[in-house]
Amino acid sequence: MLVNCPECNKRISDNAEACPNCGHPINPIKPKGEGCFLQTLNIGCATVLIGFVIVFLLAMAVSLFRFSPNKSEKTEIKKSPNK
Ligand SMILES: [Zn+2]
Repeated sequence: MLVNCPECNKRISDNAEACPNCGHPINPIKPKGEGCFLQTLNIGCATVLIGFVIVFLLAMAVSLFRFSPNKSEKTEIKKSPNK
């Protein structure tokens, strides 16, 4: 199947990942595996998002651990009682 390149308007195969003429990326929407999560860029986006959330949660957990009252009593960081 041929489609028009949105960039140079050339007729190119929609199987191509990018236009062979100008290099414009082609993203054909093919519902091959409907309901399948492991398809095309969706997996990439989802993985990046989930990874980001996991890293964020880990950072939160680490910062919470460092904020344990035992340590903060000994090392008062950036909190000078003398004005
Ligand atoms: Zn093109």
